[in-house]
Amino acid sequence: MLRIENISKQRMRSTGETVRILQHVDLDVAPAQITAVIGPSGSGKSTLLRLVNRLEDADDGRIELQGADIRSFDPLALRRQVVMVLQMPFVFPGTVLDNLQHPFILQNKKPPYADSSEVQGALQMCGLERGMLATRASSLSVGQQQRVCLARALLLEPKLLLLDEPTSALDRPTGDRLGQTLKRICREHGLTILMVTHDLRLAGRCADVVAYLEKGRMLESGASGALLNNPGTKALQRFLAEPETQEG
Ligand code: ADP
Ligand code: MG
Repeated sequence: MLRIENISKQRMRSTGETVRILQHVDLDVAPAQITAVIGPSGSGKSTLLRLVNRLEDADDGRIELQGADIRSFDPLALRRQVVMVLQMPFVFPGTVLDNLQHPFILQNKKPPYADSSEVQGALQMCGLERGMLATRASSLSVGQQQRVCLARALLLEPKLLLLDEPTSALDRPTGDRLGQTLKRICREHGLTILMVTHDLRLAGRCADVVAYLEKGRMLESGASGALLNNPGTKALQRFLAEPETQEG
């Protein structure tokens, strides 16, 4: 579905110094699976996601979506197929329904109405109740807002869903429920998800494949259970042994 090949990215510090953010990163994201990139804060996880929907471009290497180089897509057209859900849930003013319809209005498309199978399906997939459509989105809990953001993204029928630290704003039970929801959406609807997170609990509970990124290098990857229970590198062993931090 998505192939990341030999990607490198540098950035200029305000001091003029160049820093290598990502170095020769490879990753394959299989369809209808959850792939989680884990790693400490500052390892380049968010940057990697930003490259996949062309919020930024890599300096080197190639990213292919279903065999096509993503540089051949218009960035806006690409972002309709590769939809990102941000770390902090972002809701627009208005009701939950307004929020679900908003991207369609932005794209000058007819928005799906409240009783449509699309809206009802998205609510159901994300564990939101139908009665919530008329609720002001900003009055919901952070966990519910995160689900509204997820439903809004799913309505766009993305080929690939990108999630940046989806549980960082959530308490543990809410994070666990979101993990279950993601897994179910993936299984039942064949959605492909690429998430980046430092939340090992989430990765362990819902990812099929896990890849470990540290200081801009992808050090290992493999089936989630095998990798987390039996890490091959000292670096991942150290990361797994660290107490969990709260920062993203
Ligand atoms: P992660 O998501 O794993 O915490 P990021 O991709 O956000 O990592 O950041 C990776 C590195 O890039 C960090 O060292 C960070 O300080 C640096 N960085 C992130 N954004 C910028 C920026 N806009 N300009 C310069 N450096 C940045
Ligand atoms: Mg990040």
